[in-house]
Amino acid sequence: MFEFSEEHRMVQKMVRQWAEKELGPKVRAMEKGEVLPYELMRKLGRDFGIIEMARGQFSKPRTEGDGERKGGNPDQAALSSILAMELARVCPGFTLAFGASLGLCGKAIAAKGTPEQVQRFALPVLTMEKIGAWGMTEPGAGSDAFGSMKTTARPEGDGYLLNGSKTFITNAPFADTLLVYARLVRPDTDSRPVHAFILDRGMPGLETSKPMDKMGMHASPTGEIFLADVRVGRDRLLGGIEDKPSRDGAKDVFHGERTSMIPMCLGIVERCLDDCIAYAKTREQWGKTIGEFQLIQEKLARMFVARENIKNLLFKTIEVEAAGRRLSMAEASACKLYCARATTEVTLEAVQLMGGNGYMREYHVEMLMRDAKLLQIGGGTDEVQIVTIARALLGS
Ligand SMILES: Cc1cc2nc3c(=O)[nH]c(=O)nc-3n(C[C@H](O)[C@H](O)[C@H](O)COP(=O)(O)OP(=O)(O)OC[C@H]3O[C@@H](n4cnc5c(N)ncnc54)[C@H](O)[C@@H]3O)c2cc1C
Repeated sequence: MFEFSEEHRMVQKMVRQWAEKELGPKVRAMEKGEVLPYELMRKLGRDFGIIEMARGQFSKPRTEGDGERKGGNPDQAALSSILAMELARVCPGFTLAFGASLGLCGKAIAAKGTPEQVQRFALPVLTMEKIGAWGMTEPGAGSDAFGSMKTTARPEGDGYLLNGSKTFITNAPFADTLLVYARLVRPDTDSRPVHAFILDRGMPGLETSKPMDKMGMHASPTGEIFLADVRVGRDRLLGGIEDKPSRDGAKDVFHGERTSMIPMCLGIVERCLDDCIAYAKTREQWGKTIGEFQLIQEKLARMFVARENIKNLLFKTIEVEAAGRRLSMAEASACKLYCARATTEVTLEAVQLMGGNGYMREYHVEMLMRDAKLLQIGGGTDEVQIVTIARALLGS
């Protein structure tokens, strides 16, 4: 079975040190919206060679067969998981903003874009010169994102005219590059396939809201996108071919979102466990440390069980990808369902274990608890994961 190597552990130590030194002191200001996460994301990219790596990987023109599935690189998967774990340990909101720009927007364009689109739009996002957003959800289309989608793209001249709106989009208030899904409405057919379009901030008719006021993940700005007669050329249709709708590409993103949450969950759970062990060993009540009470021990033991399960799911995912396979959608949904629920439970128990202190901003678990709840909603709710699993089981 896959496990982190000595080298991975060394990198983990370095990322932890970076996150504690660079990210930790800025979390409060990011939480209040006084500091945006983007400059620090770029610093992270420079300090760990992420920008150089992306430049090296995507600067080469794509050749035939590049899009085909090959065996993954377990080292690369382990290192990106370590990055997400260690960042989420300190600030899940920062990790979300980072993941939405590079993982959702940048990688979706890199995976399904034409070679020209990869160079022109994906590369600047992957090298963090630009910030990306991925816009699927609409006010009336959340869990049923495809079926209820109202945003349209109508052919006009040599391009399209886009109208509609998106909501709850991570990075939307500040993103430079916005990958937006819309229904293609052609006068000659009743079929309304969903396509993705690559938009730039500043295009006439494109507006974004200010950051929405939300429960947690405050370090990641969330907002709306409004499209009123936005004219785009054919060069902005992702993949460049009308007969190839983006549904499969978007499903790949859903799959990726589900599995990419696992390391974030692991980071949050590990941090809760570490902080709670330290607290249980020092906080005294009734003349003894609270760690001596069996009810507290039970909480710690359950956090440990969640940690082990999430870690095993992460290792399984890395192993499967390395073998050139990937989890089925039901397996990916099962991972997300388990990890998101377990993480929310662990954070709630961490607050409980620390009593009044756990409820105070000064103690890190308070933010982790607010942030963890999003994991059960974003990337498909718990209920949607259950429906996906049940459909696969029943063949419906
Ligand atoms: C902080 C944050 C960041 C986000 N970032 C992005 C982003 O970057 N890009 C993006 O496109 N979207 C993003 N989202 C949107 C997110 O993916 C949606 O909120 C999510 O998919 C749920 O959609 P909804 O909010 O419309 O809820 P609804 O779909 O309205 O669901 C309401 C309730 O009904 C339940 N439900 C729905 N269908 C069923 C069913 N068939 N059976 C049983 N129960 C059901 C749901 O589980 C939920 O409990 C973000 C959301 C948040 C909160």
